Amino acid sequence: MIRLEKIDKYFGENRVLSSVDLQLATGNVTALIGPSGSGKSTLLRCVNLLEIPESGSLELGDQRLEFSRERKPLRETVLTIRRRTGMVFQNFQLFPHLTVRQNVMEGLLTVQKWNKERAAARADELLEKVGIAQKADAWPSTLSGGQQQRVAIARALAPSPEVLLCDEPTSALDPGLAAEVVDVLKQLANEGMTMLMATHDLRLAATIARDVVFLKNGVIVESGPSKDVFMTPREAETAQFVSTLTHSLPESWTN
Ligand code: ADP
Ligand code: MG
Repeated sequence: MIRLEKIDKYFGENRVLSSVDLQLATGNVTALIGPSGSGKSTLLRCVNLLEIPESGSLELGDQRLEFSRERKPLRETVLTIRRRTGMVFQNFQLFPHLTVRQNVMEGLLTVQKWNKERAAARADELLEKVGIAQKADAWPSTLSGGQQQRVAIARALAPSPEVLLCDEPTSALDPGLAAEVVDVLKQLANEGMTMLMATHDLRLAATIARDVVFLKNGVIVESGPSKDVFMTPREAETAQFVSTLTHSLPESWTN
């Protein structure tokens, strides 16, 4: 279980997250939706402490952290929590000077201090899992966007994180390439991976996520089971936003 309580995040005077509460049950997938600038990326970054909130608390398994302006968390604590999470970015962020396999191995070698053989075996296992084993020795620049994102997913999974955080994982991709990334994420969801993903892609939000959280101006407007939020939203703001999303809802929902 991952629990965020009363999270406030400021950039200067700008309050970007306001008393955000979020619970991610183990094995559950949650989609984070909301207009651009609503704080989705910031919220994801608060879960792995790439951003440190000004107040509130974060609970990750047996670790609990209280935030305050006066007392920054210890670097050690930040690193331990970060190691328990994996992050996938919109623009992949692969290392261009490393091969696909080396990209997946990198964190295992430098952060986890694994030896090369063990790291290479883990990388190959994950590249197989995301369907890209044949590209292990290729340079990232020779891959399609969909392939690069699948490598990024393999890299994020390498240290066996307890939660996978995805920031608009399909939004830089053409529909066909997005579909192959959706397939990989769906497979992970089926295997019980806990995930939180910011997305504008209804295929991701509606078909993979069990729960949806709608964030606007740093405030959670509405959250609940995906089907309820998309089909029978309680709030007018949610209904208005959902109507702007692309693609269509699953057929099984509408008939
Ligand atoms: P979203 O991912 O939903 O588009 P973001 O979390 O990126 O939203 O941004 C939320 C707000 O925080 C925006 O107003 C954005 O300009 C601001 N913001 C994000 N990152 C920073 C930063 N590093 N410094 C200052 N302001 C930021
Ligand atoms: Mg964002």
